[in-house]
Amino acid sequence: MKAAARTPRRPRKATNPTQKDPVGVYCRVRPLSRADQECCIEVINGTTVQIHPPEGYRVFRNGEYRETQYSFKEVFGTLVVQKELFDVVAKPLVEDLIRGKNGLLFTYGVTGSGKTHTMTGSPGDGGLLPRCLAMIFNSIGPFQAKRFVFKLDDKNGVDVQSEVEALLERQRREALPTPKTPAGKRQLDPQFADMIDARDPCRAEEVDEDNVYGVFVSYIEIYNNYIYDLLEEAPCDSIKPKPPQSKILREDQNHNMYVTGCTEVEVKSTEEAFEVFWRGQKKRRIANTQLNRESSRSHSVFIIKLAQAPLDADGDNVLQEKEQITLSQLSLVDLAGSERTNRTKAEGNRLREAGNINQSLMTLRTCIEVLRENQLYGTNKMVPYRDSKLTHLFKNYFDGEGKVRMIVCVNPKAEDYEESLQVMRFAEMTQEVEVARPLDRPLCGLTPGRRLRNQAFREELSRKLELRGGPVGAGPEEPSAAELFFQSFPPLPPCELLDINDDQTLPKLIEALEQRHKMRQMLTEEFAKNVLAFKTMLQEFDSSVASKENYIQGKLAEKEKTITGQKTELERLEKKIKTLEYKIEILEKTATIYEEDKRNLQQELESKSQKLQRQASDKRRLEARLQGMVAETSLKWEKECERRVAAKQLEMQNKLWVKDEKLKQLKAIVTEPRAERPERPSREREREKPLPRSVSPSPAPSTPVAPLRPRRSRSAGERWVDHRPPSHVPTETLLQPRVPRAITVEAPSERALARCDRYLLTHQELASDGEIQTKLIKGDVFKTRGGGQAVQFTDIETLKQESPTGRKRRSSPPNPDPAGDAADSEWTDVETRCSVAVEMRAGSALGPGFQHHAQPKRRKP
Ligand code: ADP
Ligand code: MG
Repeated sequence: MKAAARTPRRPRKATNPTQKDPVGVYCRVRPLSRADQECCIEVINGTTVQIHPPEGYRVFRNGEYRETQYSFKEVFGTLVVQKELFDVVAKPLVEDLIRGKNGLLFTYGVTGSGKTHTMTGSPGDGGLLPRCLAMIFNSIGPFQAKRFVFKLDDKNGVDVQSEVEALLERQRREALPTPKTPAGKRQLDPQFADMIDARDPCRAEEVDEDNVYGVFVSYIEIYNNYIYDLLEEAPCDSIKPKPPQSKILREDQNHNMYVTGCTEVEVKSTEEAFEVFWRGQKKRRIANTQLNRESSRSHSVFIIKLAQAPLDADGDNVLQEKEQITLSQLSLVDLAGSERTNRTKAEGNRLREAGNINQSLMTLRTCIEVLRENQLYGTNKMVPYRDSKLTHLFKNYFDGEGKVRMIVCVNPKAEDYEESLQVMRFAEMTQEVEVARPLDRPLCGLTPGRRLRNQAFREELSRKLELRGGPVGAGPEEPSAAELFFQSFPPLPPCELLDINDDQTLPKLIEALEQRHKMRQMLTEEFAKNVLAFKTMLQEFDSSVASKENYIQGKLAEKEKTITGQKTELERLEKKIKTLEYKIEILEKTATIYEEDKRNLQQELESKSQKLQRQASDKRRLEARLQGMVAETSLKWEKECERRVAAKQLEMQNKLWVKDEKLKQLKAIVTEPRAERPERPSREREREKPLPRSVSPSPAPSTPVAPLRPRRSRSAGERWVDHRPPSHVPTETLLQPRVPRAITVEAPSERALARCDRYLLTHQELASDGEIQTKLIKGDVFKTRGGGQAVQFTDIETLKQESPTGRKRRSSPPNPDPAGDAADSEWTDVETRCSVAVEMRAGSALGPGFQHHAQPKRRKP
């Protein structure tokens, strides 16, 4: 047998960058559950499936509804059996595993599409996993090392120990109360007994028989982005079960990922290995029930590790060199359902979990997408392996650690149409990703066939012993070849001559010696024959070497041809590089020009923005100034208003005061008996009386009123001073005050008063109804003792225009008096009836209407 090539825990760089293999993507279409279900996927041929929208989804385009075809490395229809699938997809991976190469196989698809059926299978119809195990043990079964010869360390590495050490460890473990690994054959669990097809003799073609092998399995579950060890022997507490502890991922010195502290069980047979798997499976089911988890939402990863080490030069014992050990692994992954969350109507906690699961599948998709993009466009984007535990664990496979294969499972039922479409798209994209092919490692250097040669020698020896009638393999101590050789000679009889007449000893000796001579001759002949055979063998070997040499030379020539081809290709590429470089140069120049433009534009932009800023600050300043001005003006106006209000208040107060005065006088008049009321002709008499009470109301004017001189007798020719203030507004009333022979003045002057004996003031004011009211205040002019003039008001006539529709000020019937409105109030009536004498000092602070008297200037007579 030929020695296998190996790739032990190889550093990442040991890949061949020029040789790449695409990820092998296969598609398996499961049968419909019921015959009456609508189907939306058909297998067109061995590599193509066609998917069409079901009735409800059909999208019509130009009258035809759209069908899509997807191609895969191979498509397995509903009739394809597990064995067939295994032979195509998994068998090469197992062969690689035995050759020391790693492999990753995962099933992808929505829940119910047959992932678990494909990976695990069902009783009587085992899936890929039990078949892989069976093939491994069928192939390496006779060459397995004793248990514990290989020892996995907890850093993803492997050690080898001598048979004696292994034996001691075995004894030590068997002494423990609960042996973890069941040794020897035992009754298989009926649940999975027939999942392993014992009749299937599938085995790898190339098994290095000069190696010894050890198989280890581990089983983990990734749920909610946490890794759980399904083989961990946790103390079982049925009352209060402890939640499982999650594990962490680490990278070993060769940058390979591994799960720390993960249980790795050494197994010696298919049954034992599958039993370990089943144990994990049970544990998974229990955990799902206890923690109310959805099993379809977790990824399960079953890892088979194969350790192999060469025998020593004699072909008897394992070579005790750690560097010669090869450890390869095959990971079988049953991924979680790829459907989107809403499809399963997950709620609450489960929704979060589902979200995470989708997250890890999403990350897987993203990683594949980025890988594809990097490969297609020569970019160097970082692949986000670390975003999820699933992708992180297998990142090295995508960086060329080993073969990657994916089985896309689809259920052709119409309900799954949209999800299946997503699955197909992902699968098609995955096919475009290429994974670097791992380099084959050189052989260990020992001559091949040691185990075989040794075995042949032993067989030959025992055959000879049998021929001799001796016991086969008697005793534990096997005699050496030389001893056996000597034992095969007939024993010599005693050759001591005791008697001269002894005629028996010599003939016996002669006979024995002759026998020995014959035997020797026989052996010599056999030796010569063997030599001849050996020589022929040697010659054969030589010729085979020569033919091999020829073959190698042929290969060499072929390779040289390839190299020459590649050289020309290289030259072509170099030329292309040069053109591209030239193009780059031009582009760089263009870029510089653009940069210059950009700089100029930026400068312009900056100056513009500075200008804008300046304008903005100017605007702000102006605003502030305007605000100040507004504030100042409003303050000024406020003050002005206040001043005006104060003036008005004062004026009103004065008016009030005068009114008070009048009232008091009126009161005095009213309280006097009516009979005593003076009549107009007797006014003169009254003038002689001391000043009426009303003249000096308290507060009394600061200067006492001078005793009035008798008034000039009133005659028909009495003269009026008609005082019309300049603010007088001419009204358009019919009744107009007109005084004959009057001296009209704008301001009362002493001179005018001195020439007249009656005084009339025309005073205008705004009535409460808004009409102008003209009051004609009449008075007599007297000469004062001091030589001045005084006016005593006697009458007020009021002229007022009123709108007929206007509101009546009073409820009394309209006055028939043609003088009219002047006497429309009792007030006015009383005022008219009474004579009021008021004397004031000119300029005193009385209301404007009552300042119409003149003080004589003392110097004047
Ligand atoms: P998944 O793991 O994708 O959720 P399963 O493998 O559990 O789906 O499959 C769901 C059901 O369909 C199971 O009862 C399984 O036996 C059946 N099934 C799936 N694929 C096939 C197939 N190729 N042939 C027959 N039955 C299948
Ligand atoms: Mg499943």
